[in-house]
Amino acid sequence: MKYYARPLNKLIAELGKLPGIGGKTAQRLAFHILSLPSEEARSLTDAITEAKEKMRFCSVCGNLTDTDPCSICSDGARDHSVICVVESPRDVYALERVREFFGVYHVLNGVISPMEGKGPEDINLRSLIVRLQENDVKEVILATNPNVEGEATAMYIAKLIKPAGIKVTRIAHGLPVGGDLEYADEVTISKAMEGRREL
Ligand SMILES: [Zn+2]
Repeated sequence: MKYYARPLNKLIAELGKLPGIGGKTAQRLAFHILSLPSEEARSLTDAITEAKEKMRFCSVCGNLTDTDPCSICSDGARDHSVICVVESPRDVYALERVREFFGVYHVLNGVISPMEGKGPEDINLRSLIVRLQENDVKEVILATNPNVEGEATAMYIAKLIKPAGIKVTRIAHGLPVGGDLEYADEVTISKAMEGRREL
């Protein structure tokens, strides 16, 4: 990429750091950005800056939000006695898209993965325990992904909270094993929620 002038090279290099963006795509995007009217290019950089500045983790559930608590945690119309535990904010989005779950969430922002040296302390789990102690929670739905880490994380959490007498369920495996919640279609997610079983 040494054929390009430095600012263009830099833009290509930065875009190339994004997930799923290879060298060729980075070049294509860079040229596209250069072809934009100034105000459109600025609104792109403004969007990045604003999102970075304003988005944070909800202090209750760990979801990404621009208000704290997030809009779901502060929604009085939702059932706060049912908590759905997911791995990432993208999973919240996937479940909200289905419009069938009216409880609240707890976002772990990761999974337990001994292979990657990630233990229970490395995910947003302690705050879930506090939530369960301080609120009248009737059911915890474990909706971590149906892969090795997701299963291990679900089992760990189930073991941890079952002694407290709270009903713990696991979403059904209409979801492909090894798959990701965020890529599942609405029907599959809906079936998985319907078919959840008690652990
Ligand atoms: Zn929240």
